[in-house]
Amino acid sequence: MPVWLLFCLNTLNGQSSFEFYGDEVAPGSKRHWTVSIEHEKDTLLVPVTVFHGTKSGPVLGITAGVHGYEYAPILAGQQLIDRIDPKKMSGTVILVQVANMGSFLGRSPYINPQDGKNLNRSFPGDEHGTITERVAHFISTEVIAKSTHFIDMHSGDAPEDLVAYVGYYQNDDKPQASETCRSMAMATGFEYIVEFRTTGKDYLKPGQSSLYCSAEAFKRNIPAMDFECGRLGLVEPHLVKKIVTGVERIMLSLKMTPGEVVETTGQVFFPVRSYVESEHDGIFYSLKKAGDYVSKGTHLGYVTDFFGNHLQEVYAPESGVILLIIGTPPINRGESLVGIGVID
Ligand SMILES: [Zn+2]
Repeated sequence: MPVWLLFCLNTLNGQSSFEFYGDEVAPGSKRHWTVSIEHEKDTLLVPVTVFHGTKSGPVLGITAGVHGYEYAPILAGQQLIDRIDPKKMSGTVILVQVANMGSFLGRSPYINPQDGKNLNRSFPGDEHGTITERVAHFISTEVIAKSTHFIDMHSGDAPEDLVAYVGYYQNDDKPQASETCRSMAMATGFEYIVEFRTTGKDYLKPGQSSLYCSAEAFKRNIPAMDFECGRLGLVEPHLVKKIVTGVERIMLSLKMTPGEVVETTGQVFFPVRSYVESEHDGIFYSLKKAGDYVSKGTHLGYVTDFFGNHLQEVYAPESGVILLIIGTPPINRGESLVGIGVID
């Protein structure tokens, strides 16, 4: 094929092909990758879809399944395969379908059973580390580093009853990125928005590990946010749809897709969250649900030993909305029983 013809095929409206992991995606098309991460006897496959629009624009990195037992975001990613149309899109979407396949196929909340590590505490990762650290390194260098905007999609994990919210990064040293983060979070149309106030936090300082997937993006001055939507490891169609719609609304607000942005009114911002930890190993009895409004001092539940004796009564430390409450019986000393979005 003559070089000029190749050039014509690979450019459309001045848009070049997008390079990903040693290969190319032509303008107006999508491609799937299955990236193999290996360490000694461990292998982990990371499915990635890249959608490349016909016009230039933002590069939106999205991860699902950083926690493999959080199913609503993973199924939202599956729906986005057909919902995102690269022929009608500006810019590029890099969508990691299941970041932590060990956790997903192993049906393991939080951790990858291959090495016992939590991927969302392993960033920026290590190309010479354990299997989970290598996955974090792959996402940091191949997905986050290529992105202009970034979304990490989570839900309540297996034991977590959670009300849907989005969280965005705020840092006084990064005013411009913080403002874009806030705009992205608001564009989702979610009612509840948590502000991750990170000014002075160690994990964003040079030389420190970023720990969290989206923090790695924000540390690089890439506007980043999290979805938290879905609960208890359940697949509830209205919550899967809420994530899909949220992503589509962000793409609209970034002008990656055509259309009018409809602003949402009445969004509630939580700059402060308040947690209660369990003081014991035992059985937790929850008396409330995620999304309940509670006033300071409300009885939220109690912890017993294995003979029914009450060890700890749990009361709301502040007034606000229960964002997360443990919804299954097992509880370990030091774990959060409840997280409240504080309302003044
Ligand atoms: Zn998670």
